Order: sequence, then structure tokens, then C-alpha cells
Amino acid sequence: MILDAMVDRGLSDETRMMREVTRKFANEHVIPFTRKNWQREWNMNPDERLPPEILQIADKIGIRTLGIPEEFGGTALDPKTEVQTFAVISEEISRGDCGLAEKMVQIWKVSVLLRNVAPRHLQERWFPRVVADPAFTLSHCLTEPRGASDRWLPYNVPEAAMQTKAVKKGDRWVINGRKQFITNAYDASLYVIYANTNTKVGMLQGTSSFLVPRDTPGLTVQRCNETLGGRYMNNGEISFEDMEIPEDHLLVENTALAKAGIYFRPGKIIQGSKNIGVAVRAFEETAKYVQNYVQGGKILIKHQATAIRLAEMATKICAVRGLLREASRAVDENAPEAEVLCNMVKLYASESVLEVCKHAVELHGGNGTMLEFGIEKLYRDATMYLHMDGTVDVTKFKIVKNLFPDTAGKYAGPEA
Ligand SMILES: Cc1cc2nc3c(=O)[nH]c(=O)nc-3n(C[C@H](O)[C@H](O)[C@H](O)COP(=O)(O)OP(=O)(O)OC[C@H]3O[C@@H](n4cnc5c(N)ncnc54)[C@H](O)[C@@H]3O)c2cc1C
Repeated sequence: MILDAMVDRGLSDETRMMREVTRKFANEHVIPFTRKNWQREWNMNPDERLPPEILQIADKIGIRTLGIPEEFGGTALDPKTEVQTFAVISEEISRGDCGLAEKMVQIWKVSVLLRNVAPRHLQERWFPRVVADPAFTLSHCLTEPRGASDRWLPYNVPEAAMQTKAVKKGDRWVINGRKQFITNAYDASLYVIYANTNTKVGMLQGTSSFLVPRDTPGLTVQRCNETLGGRYMNNGEISFEDMEIPEDHLLVENTALAKAGIYFRPGKIIQGSKNIGVAVRAFEETAKYVQNYVQGGKILIKHQATAIRLAEMATKICAVRGLLREASRAVDENAPEAEVLCNMVKLYASESVLEVCKHAVELHGGNGTMLEFGIEKLYRDATMYLHMDGTVDVTKFKIVKNLFPDTAGKYAGPEA
């Protein structure tokens, strides 16, 4: 299809090759797995949602350990186009299932963060373990039951501080608090945890990050959330009660949020790409349906109202992808406009893809709402993106903050 040709335009040979490998993986393994299970999604035990065979195959073809330096066994990508490659292959996995994609991309996102901010001894300790075990997943724990949007704006005042607190006692840190809505929290082997370490200053000066193994005494996995969509991500909640960790588990002291841009920028690109993957799947399924289903004596696609909806779906997908390509190039080039473009991607992708999926449900008629057709699943999956990586409204505010740094931007602090 012509849309496929457009996916490849301007990609490097490496990125195109990675896309082909990932598309094959999605077609041969992810889509059959989700098709087999989508009527069971609701009553599946969370432990069944970490399918070992899918992770093993992903590992074998080299798409699980991206972001991990080659010296520790990770799959190396050309740094000049790394984020563009992340984008293209996230879209392909998500075309299969956005929850499984989320499981995987979280490993890349956290690995990029650790590669940039973790001291050498922590990289040497943990990267080889991630590489060795296909079921090893990583988790990034920022959100708390109160004031999650504050982390995105952020209000750089002590009143907006995280409620999770870390206090230094001798050569150990003691952490108390709770994190909610966390991707992979139910399954992860290793967690990046953010906590307040100075109650007198704003978040950008008083938040630290730590690397905490799952089996640390005092860490409890409280629950696996039963989410509307993206159910394979096993989003969960964890708590810390007098959790003691050695001082060498510290990642960044006090300025962890200010340095988190290295995680958030590629993260927003990956998020937008997973979002498009859902739309592409909705478009593909709908294109098949309207060329077979007969109404009024002719196939649906020959009815003009159907054509209008299909045209809108295809145009939105291409428009989001165009913006996303521009933003991912800006992140790879570390360009000053990268931040604002990433926020525009989050905003435009999450709103447009939901509309694409709404058209898909509508064009399927009653079948669009039935579990066995899988179209309602795509609509549910698309809804999740409104709230991931910040809400739509808060993202709009961030765009204005980036566009007008001397006025709106002064209200909050910069991110490195
Ligand atoms: C599926 C999923 C996966 C996630 N994965 C992770 C993860 O891996 N790690 C992690 O740390 N977090 C994760 N999150 C959390 C996510 O980043 C937060 O949900 C998001 O930042 C919004 O926070 P909140 O839900 O607490 O909303 P709130 O902050 O409570 O906002 C509620 C409403 O108030 C509005 N609002 C808030 N502040 C303002 C303001 N100043 N001005 C105007 N309106 C405002 C918001 O736009 C929203 O409409 C995930 C969330 C979801 C849904």
C-alpha cells in the first residue's frame, strides 16, 4: 500500500532494516498472540501478561536491549539516527500490540537514562543482567497519588515536592512513599525511583533518583492495575516502607528531575510512535473491512461517506508521522526546538489517533463494538495515550512555556 512506501521515505538503511525486522516480528508473533488472546485480555492473570516466548524472540532479533551500550552486550544503533530508529520500530511493535510495545520500549528508555546518568559501577552491575535475561524488565517511577502533573510543568516550589522522601542515614538511604500508574511496575526486576531529598527547595533542586532492585526489603508491589487499554504493560503500584538502600544506588542527587530531559525527549517520541502504531492497525483493519462488507448492494468503500472517513484516517496518520519524524530528527541532533516538537507530538498524536480509532469503530458498525473484532480494543488502547507522559492539557501548557520562555517559561524552571 502507498502508506507503507511513505513510512520508508528518508530513513537510513539501518533504520529501514530495523523496521523490516520488527514488522516481521509483529506480523509473525505479536499479532497472532494478541488475536489468540484478545477475548481473554480481561480475565487473564497479570502473570500471563508477560509472555516469555515473545520476549525471547524479541531478544533473539536484538530489539529488546536497545539503548544498552554495546560493551555490555546491548544492540548498537547509529547514534545519529538512534531516536528515529526507536520511533520506527516502536510503531511496528505497537501495530501488533501497544501494551507489549510499552513493556519493551520501557527497557530502551530506562537504558538510555542509565547510560547517561548512572555511575559506571551501576552500569557494570545491571546492564549485563538485563542483557542476560529476556524476562528482565525495567520501570521508571515518577508518578505518585498526588499531583502527578506537577512533575511535568513543574511548579518549582517546595509545596509541589514529591511525597516520596529519601533521607540519608550513614552510608544508606532510607526511602518511604508510594508510586502509582507505573508501566512494568508489576513485573520489573529493577526500578528507577524518584524521591524528595530536600524539603526546602523546588523540585528541580530537591529531587534525587535511585536504582532499586525488586527484591529490596521494604519495597512492595501493591497491585497490577486493570487498565482500559494497553493491558500487557502490567501497569502497577509500588510502595516503600523504611526501604534501605546502600548509598551507591544513588543515580542523581538533587537535580534528578532537571536532568530527566534525556529520558523524556526520546520517551515522548517513542510514545507518539506507539500511538501511531495503534492508528495504523485501525486503518489496516478498517481498509480490509470496507472492501469486503456489503451495504446497499455495494461494498462499503464505494459509499462516499465511507471514503470521507477513510481519507481523514489516512491523512491524520501521515500528518502525525510527519511531525514525529521532524521531532525525532531534532532529538537526534540535540536541536533547541526538540523539546517543543516532542510536546507537540504528544498532543497531536494522542488526539488524532483517538479520532482515527473512532472512525474505525464507526465504519465497523456494531461489529466495531464487539470483542471478537478487536476494533474496540484499538479504541481503548488509543484512549490511554491522552494520559501517558503527561495529560493533553498540561502538554499544551508546556508547548506555550517552550514557545514563550521569557514570559510563560519564567513561571517554571528549565529542563537540561
Ligand atoms: C497507562 C499509563 C502509563 C503510565 N506510565 C507511567 C510510568 O511508567 N511512570 C510514571 O512515573 N508515570 C506513569 N504514568 C503516569 C502519567 O504520567 C500521569 O498519569 C500523568 O502525568 C498525569 O497525572 P495524573 O493522572 O495524576 O493527573 P493529575 O495531575 O491528577 O491531573 C488531573 C487533571 O487535572 C489537570 N491539571 C493538573 N494540573 C493542572 C494545571 N496546573 N493546570 C491545568 N490543568 C491541570 C490535568 O490536565 C488532568 O486533566 C502513566 C499513566 C498511564 C495512564
